[in-house]
Amino acid sequence: MVASAYDDNNIFAKILRGEIPSHKLYEDEHTLAFMDVMPQAPGHLLVIPKVGSRNLLDADPDVLARTIPVVQKLAVAAKEAFDADGVFVAQFNEPAAGQTVFHLHFHVIPRKEGEPLKPHSGVMADGEVLKAHAEKIKAALAL
Ligand code: AMP
Repeated sequence: MVASAYDDNNIFAKILRGEIPSHKLYEDEHTLAFMDVMPQAPGHLLVIPKVGSRNLLDADPDVLARTIPVVQKLAVAAKEAFDADGVFVAQFNEPAAGQTVFHLHFHVIPRKEGEPLKPHSGVMADGEVLKAHAEKIKAALAL
């Protein structure tokens, strides 16, 4: 099957253009990190490059090289902020692999021993809770 082209009407492109809100955590010239609205665990966040690609399969390797250090930075901060035992980093490519938003993104999910993950794209979190969790991660980023 031939892969589809990048479509900049996706929800993360709209977040990048400021057309819809997000709980932002970190931004630089190339990258944005924000809270996932349907967290699989407290502190679930997403890291996206600003340059559009559908997923990892069509991404520019230079973009990947700039994005992964930010994934690391946010993973360290989220682990600290939620006093987690580990951090799950995930990335899905195409619907068959579970991808639902077609702008490359990395999931960063703090994990605690014995606490199961909630379902992927499950329940929308309360906005105030996401805001409070974002503040915790931003405080850890500032350390
Ligand atoms: P994936 O299945 O890897 O494409 O994951 C897409 C993720 O985006 C899911 O975890 C959703 O909960 C999340 N998501 C969808 N819409 C938004 C949004 N407007 N803001 C933040 N996260 C979102």
